Order: sequence, then structure tokens, then C-alpha cells
Amino acid sequence: MEPIKKSYKIFVIILLIVIISSGFLLPLLLIKGTNIENIDIQLKFEGDNAYIHVEEQILINQTHFRIPGTQGREQCAQYFITKFQQITTNFSYILHNFTVHSIECQNVLFKLNENFSNIVILGTHYDSRARATKDPIITNRTKPVPGANDGASGCAVLIELARALYERRINLSCQIWFLFFDAEDQGYDYAAGIEGWDWCEGSRSFVNNINNFYNSSKEYFDCMLLLDMVGSENLQFINEQHSTSSLLEELFEIGRQLGYTTQFPTDPYSATITDDHVAFINIGIPSADLIIKFWDNPEWPYHHTTQDDLSHISNMSLEITGRTVEQFVYNNYLGIPSNDYQGNYPWKQDINVLDTELLIFLIIFFAIIGVSSLVILLIRRIYVKKKDNNSRIKIKNTF
Ligand SMILES: [Zn+2]
Repeated sequence: MEPIKKSYKIFVIILLIVIISSGFLLPLLLIKGTNIENIDIQLKFEGDNAYIHVEEQILINQTHFRIPGTQGREQCAQYFITKFQQITTNFSYILHNFTVHSIECQNVLFKLNENFSNIVILGTHYDSRARATKDPIITNRTKPVPGANDGASGCAVLIELARALYERRINLSCQIWFLFFDAEDQGYDYAAGIEGWDWCEGSRSFVNNINNFYNSSKEYFDCMLLLDMVGSENLQFINEQHSTSSLLEELFEIGRQLGYTTQFPTDPYSATITDDHVAFINIGIPSADLIIKFWDNPEWPYHHTTQDDLSHISNMSLEITGRTVEQFVYNNYLGIPSNDYQGNYPWKQDINVLDTELLIFLIIFFAIIGVSSLVILLIRRIYVKKKDNNSRIKIKNTF
């Protein structure tokens, strides 16, 4: 009997050590991430160019706002085609028509480097919200949102990225899609919005028809990056929880290494946002949403108000977003003589590494289990010792 008891004790002690140490080691493992170091290359994205693209979209508002089913929406799609054809007259594109409650909508997709079978999607929505449902002035709530940040900023970054990446297209080892979604921003909130409309109608419709836009027997998707509200002053991105964590984490690290530590903080605010990347996540494409805290944010209180206009757009914020994405593409796909960049590719890992609440929970959980097990063991030991003493006294008494 004795040897079994001894090995049982050793087993329990080892188990306790494992439990307690894992309480501290697991969070460290989650934080670890991979060895990411930006490759040294001159970035070509210019914030001033992107700012002009925001301005040009806002100009469309003078005749019609960029709302689904309107002339403004059509003009905006045409504006993208014009801008891409200025990069090269034969920039290939596809118009994806769909309807939402019989309103005609249209996603616009541009393709670069179609000879490569691995596809990186860069996406953003281009519709502006039909009603400023969060405007502090009640009478403004039926007016349209200018959508300088919420809509135009992401599109502006995509246009400037297309120009920058086109210059190095020959050295890139991937196909890139520049994808502009219609009908993202018309969802019903506070009993307002467009009745019967949901958020992200355009991206869901696109994903439902995705087989029409690529050859699934030859081509496949590496990842999808979504840009939403990326041009405001006081830019600071959040840890969006639908996003594939290893992908979002890599973008944050790339941004920080470029010196953008305020915009990509080490301890970002965490939140789950329903946005255009979710449809892509749902079909297994690693996706990340670069988005700000757009609610209860004194730094940018203009979400879904008539104040989301050009006066709160910063060319620096546009540049920070654009250059981070540009660097991401070069890190992973630029075949310079030797590119030994080690990122998180293929971005399958999805642990919310930046979610401090989860880490704190894990530490407390394992610590409680560890400490209570130790207490139980201690009580048992004292009890067994007492019992031993008692039986010894009894044995003494019998003599
Ligand atoms: Zn919006």
C-alpha cells in the first residue's frame, strides 16, 4: 500500500505545480505572438493624396448623397472606376449588382495581379448613411450623413493603396482585390434607419455570390483586411473581436513598428463589431477589421451625425492606415532578393490575444484552482498527521 500512496502524492504535487504555473504561463503564451519585424522598404502611400480622394467623394454630396439606390451612389461607383483607370486604363473590374428590398445596389471590385492564385482582399464600404440617426439635434436625424469618415475615408485609402501597390505589382507574389461594398450602413437603429434593412447587406450578398468572382478550382483567399472609419483626427484602432486575432495582431505590430504607437496601442479597447468582414470570416477567410471606437468617444463624437464631414478628417490618419496596410503587403508578399519576413501567415490562429479581460479571467481561474487544491492538500496532511499521532498514543497506551 505504501508505494502507491507515495506515487499518488507525487502525482498530486506535480498536477498542482502544472495548474498553478499554467495560470501564469498560459497568458504569457497567448501574448507571445511571432517574431515580426517589418522589412526595410520605402513606403509610397501619401496621406495628402488620400485626403483629396475623401474631398472628391464629399463633392458628390453636393448633388446627391452616396446612398443606395440613388444617383449619388452611381456617381461614386463611377468615380472609383475613373480613379483606377487613371492608374492604368486596363485595371480590370467587376460590378456586382444586387437588390435589397427591390432597391438596386452595387459592389465594385478591382483586381490587381490576376495571374496569382492566392488572393488578398482589401475591403471597405462606400455607401453613406441615409439618415443621421445619432445626431444630437433631433431635427437633423432625418438628414443624410456626409460620411467623410464613415464611408469615404476607407475608399480614399483603397484608391491611394491601389496607386502605391500598382508601382510594385511586378514584385508582389499575390493577387490583390480592392473591394468597395454598397449598403453597409443603412441598418435600423434606435427605431430609425431604413426600415427592413440590415447592416452589411453588400458584403453578405457578395460572399453569397463569391463563386462568380473567382475560379475556386485554381484560386484561393489568403486573407481579408477591412477598413472602416480610418480617417478621423485622434485615430485609435480597437481590438475587434470577430477579427482573426493573429491577423489583427500582426497589423497592430506592423503599425507600432512604423512608429504609430498611439493609433495601434499595446492594450487596445476590445469590442465585437458587426461589419463587412464577418461574412468573410463565416466562410473561413482570415479577416481583420481596422476600426475605431465609434461610440461614446469624445475624440470623435460624429458617428451617424451630420457632423461626419471633411472638417474632422486628418491626412495623417489616412496615411497611418494606408502605410500600415502597404507595409503588411510588402512584408508578406514582396519578393525582394531575400524576404525572410516571418509573420503570422497563414493567420489561422484565432485567440483573442489582446483581450486583457480574458487573460485576467484565466489568471484568476487557475490561481483559485491552484490555491484551493493546496489548501485541501494541507488540511489533509494535518488530518493524517493528527490521526497518526492519535494511533501512536493508542499504541503507547496498550503497552
Ligand atoms: Zn456607419
